[in-house]
Amino acid sequence: MKSKILKCSECGRYTLKAVCPACGAAAINPRPARYSPEDRYGVYRRRMKRFYDDGAGT
Ligand SMILES: [Zn+2]
Repeated sequence: MKSKILKCSECGRYTLKAVCPACGAAAINPRPARYSPEDRYGVYRRRMKRFYDDGAGT
């Protein structure tokens, strides 16, 4: 899926415009390399996974 979606640098809203329609801040290109070994958000993702794993089994 190819899209030129951008992400607002202020409110985090996704938009196709260069300027956020919600707050007027500049929209930036979200990180294309999501599977980098230095994924600094990996810890949050793993934490969420653990959170769901703990709650799903019961
Ligand atoms: Zn915004």
